[in-house]
Amino acid sequence: MNLAGLARHSGFIARNANAVTRNLGSQSSSNLSPSISRVSLFSTSTPLSCASHKSSSSDRETNRPGVQTDKYADGLRQNKDWAASTARDHPDLFPTLATGQKPQILWLGCSDSRCPETSMLGLQPGDVFVHRNIANIMHPGDLSSGAVIEYAVKHLQVKHVVVCGHTSCGGVAAAMGNKELGILDPWLLPLRQVRERNLALLESLSPDEAALKLVELNVRDGLSVVTQKSAVLNAIQERGLQVHGLVYDVGSGVLRELDIQETQDSLKTRLLAFKTN
Ligand SMILES: [Zn+2]
Repeated sequence: MNLAGLARHSGFIARNANAVTRNLGSQSSSNLSPSISRVSLFSTSTPLSCASHKSSSSDRETNRPGVQTDKYADGLRQNKDWAASTARDHPDLFPTLATGQKPQILWLGCSDSRCPETSMLGLQPGDVFVHRNIANIMHPGDLSSGAVIEYAVKHLQVKHVVVCGHTSCGGVAAAMGNKELGILDPWLLPLRQVRERNLALLESLSPDEAALKLVELNVRDGLSVVTQKSAVLNAIQERGLQVHGLVYDVGSGVLRELDIQETQDSLKTRLLAFKTN
């Protein structure tokens, strides 16, 4: 699979590529709101028409069947309705969140736009502390995921750590292929190493079965990296922190739990090898 193929599979990459195209491309594009076209690529200010939106000829044009509306403008406009309805349904939520957070779950998942962890769990803001990257890969030396895990486990005292993969993962599909992908190649290296270690098994399966198997193996590999961290081992031993492996089916919205039972001997070996004080 080439980079274009990966981009098609990965909402994260495709969305950003499209955003650049929209901002740098033709100003007369029919699916481009005039207010958005004037916004700098790096602007963080709210376009005036998004803050107090009125129906325009441009909107009527983008509301035609088959014409995609601009989701950024839609989202900003809908935010006020969402904030109001959430405050109405859960009057204590925002005042409580304004004083701090106490999430029970640390979620380590894929950046894919189809995998919104809080929505798929039916939970609320403040429930899930999140780190997401392409193909939910846990690099042992990655400062970003390492800092998130340490903060969530040691300081927020989460009760559950979840590593979640998903079906139709663009990163997994890329690792199953042998195309050069630039900066994504070093990122996908752990996934390719999982592929290498399980090559005979993966090659005995159909392409779809092999991709799903690599998703599961990648989750298990991620959990192995997470549970080599001393902060996680301490929390498992001292306060019963639980770790979980999940696979999300983007075609049905259903989560499946992997059996990741570890023997006492295996845990003992892990503690001896990785736990520090
Ligand atoms: Zn993915």
